[in-house]
Amino acid sequence: MAIRIVKTDAPKEKVSADKLGFGKVFSDHMFMMEYEDGQWKDPRIVPFGNLSLHPASTVFHYGAEIFEGLKAYRRDDGGVQLFRPEENIRRMNNSAERMCLPQIDEKLFMEALETLVRIDESWVPSAPGTSLYLRPFLFGNDPFLGVHTVQTAEFLIIASPVGSYYKEGLQPVSIMIETEDVRAVRGGTGYAKCGGNYGASFRAGKKAEEKGYSQVLWLDGVERKYIEEVGAMNVMFQIGDEIVTPALTGSILPGVTRKSCIQLLKDEGYKVSERLLSAEELKDACRSGALKEAWGCGTAAVVSPIGHLMMDDEVFTINNNEIGAVTQHLYDTLTGIQWGRIADTRGWIHKID
Ligand SMILES: *Cc1c(COP(=O)(O)O)cnc(C)c1O
Repeated sequence: MAIRIVKTDAPKEKVSADKLGFGKVFSDHMFMMEYEDGQWKDPRIVPFGNLSLHPASTVFHYGAEIFEGLKAYRRDDGGVQLFRPEENIRRMNNSAERMCLPQIDEKLFMEALETLVRIDESWVPSAPGTSLYLRPFLFGNDPFLGVHTVQTAEFLIIASPVGSYYKEGLQPVSIMIETEDVRAVRGGTGYAKCGGNYGASFRAGKKAEEKGYSQVLWLDGVERKYIEEVGAMNVMFQIGDEIVTPALTGSILPGVTRKSCIQLLKDEGYKVSERLLSAEELKDACRSGALKEAWGCGTAAVVSPIGHLMMDDEVFTINNNEIGAVTQHLYDTLTGIQWGRIADTRGWIHKID
């Protein structure tokens, strides 16, 4: 299916790198197409702008929405590249399956990403740590209120130049274990990247913020015993000489950054375990000094060191509230590959030029 292109006749002013922040500025174009009568129609790039939707549209009432997040990186030689985009495409279709939303042809999806990045190439910033964040999203758009699986849907990709996540170096964050709310349960939508998971997480996030913590550490929704994720990132711990990350039990989002960290660490000979990790085990490891490092990982931050961990009113300090060697190494290696300063030996880089 050919992608139709309608270019804007009113390109916007670019915003300087220090004023970008995250997800506040948008490029000149967006990709969109509609699903109707069992097929996707009219894939096109159009000027970025507002949507007009029926007030009964399924997405507003029953939360039929999924999304993805990946970045286009500017190399030192001026070229532009994506990091493992096929992982995001596959995950989006897994999320769609869970939510009874239509599948997207993988080749068309990739072409849509490439075409949008090419057309808005001048929006890929070049200052250190900056990138063009790509946000594909898909929602049910039936114009009636009956509870039903979706017959019509809309798929869009918007692009937002984003600033460096770390303006003053990698600062460790403080997080607290959430013991009341849960993010997801097995059999639910935890492994799908759907907006509804976020809606359900805001209350705990707000409570943590009020107490001076930047994120919550989620426990599993069934036994409320096992560590799952931190805020909207996957989480990893170095306990003794073992790197531990919660196993993908169905309620955890399978992060591309998580998968990449595991691969890098294994390739370098680290012992990496994907397994159940209880809050009790983590507390014991804090007390005994076995917990060496802890970090969150996700596309936006790459890795985010955890300096303080609050569990049941006890606050533990990790690695002196400083970034640890493994966390720093992962950050340097991943960002090195993403921005093209370290050779990609694993086929993770998808060049746009
Ligand atoms: C997107 C997301 C992540 C991180 O996934 P990446 O592919 O590494 O960006 C982790 N947890 C949740 C809940 C997410 O939505």
